[in-house]
Amino acid sequence: MLELTDVTHVYPNGTRALDEVTLSIPKGMFGLLGPNGAGKSTLMRTVATLQTPTSGAIRFGDIDVLAEPERLRERLGYLPQDFGVYPRVSAYDMLDHMAVLKGVASAADRKATVETLLNQTNLWAVRKKAIAGFSGGMRQRFGIAQALIGNPELIIVDEPTAGLDPEERNRFLNLLAEIGENVVVILSTHIVEDVADLCPRMAVIVDGRIRLEGAPRELIERARGTVWAKTIARGELDSYRERYEVISTRLFAGNTIVHILSESDPGEGFAPVEGGLEDVYFSTLATTRRGLTAEDLAA
Ligand code: ADP
Repeated sequence: MLELTDVTHVYPNGTRALDEVTLSIPKGMFGLLGPNGAGKSTLMRTVATLQTPTSGAIRFGDIDVLAEPERLRERLGYLPQDFGVYPRVSAYDMLDHMAVLKGVASAADRKATVETLLNQTNLWAVRKKAIAGFSGGMRQRFGIAQALIGNPELIIVDEPTAGLDPEERNRFLNLLAEIGENVVVILSTHIVEDVADLCPRMAVIVDGRIRLEGAPRELIERARGTVWAKTIARGELDSYRERYEVISTRLFAGNTIVHILSESDPGEGFAPVEGGLEDVYFSTLATTRRGLTAEDLAA
């Protein structure tokens, strides 16, 4: 279990990137969903002990993460949002080198570790190729391979599917799903389907604050009866925006399908939607923009 209590981070320029974040993250996949600039990377880097928060506490099992960062690092696998420079070194040699850095001392252990990880991430066939020449999907799979060195108990992957094509994305998510239920895996993303497909628990972060937390299924259930849809002409959209809380719009066969948030039947030809996680997410963003929280709405 990873526990964050009132974690706040204010950058030197005054940006409050995290605002009293309190979260309990159990074993299994946990989705941290939020738009760009919400504070996801700041939170991931903070938990990965790459930066120290302005205030708050973080515990992982019996580890006080802020007081004993090196103990956390021994148990951590981290795939940053930007891996930086991709070396002209082969995948095999790079993994071997990183295993040395992670303290896998014996050559025999390293060989076993590196070979297992290359197979697990489906990179065995390209193990002798330079990482510099890898596609986006291969790089991300390599990123997971290096994050898994040393059997980490906490794995953090920051926006791993950004820029991947659908097939690569699927392959990558399947790989994450296989990592297992006995470790804490935090997946930060702005892509709703990443979370919907994969995560038994999730939170939505906006403007540095946790706005919603729970199991996707429960959150969808809780939102039932509040989302309504109607197909309108494209030119009508502005007038609907003035009268309703429009949470999303989608073009379909030249018309626009609007989804709105309403506690009661809005009439005017709107039909209730069997909302999905996307509606839950966009509702949360809409109410946040209005300065309300989901709890306010439920009250
Ligand atoms: P996300 O990963 O969700 O896109 P970030 O954690 O990168 O969000 O950013 C959260 C907020 O903090 C944004 O407003 C961003 O501009 C700001 N921010 C991020 N890094 C820094 C920094 N080093 N200095 C100042 N502001 C920063």
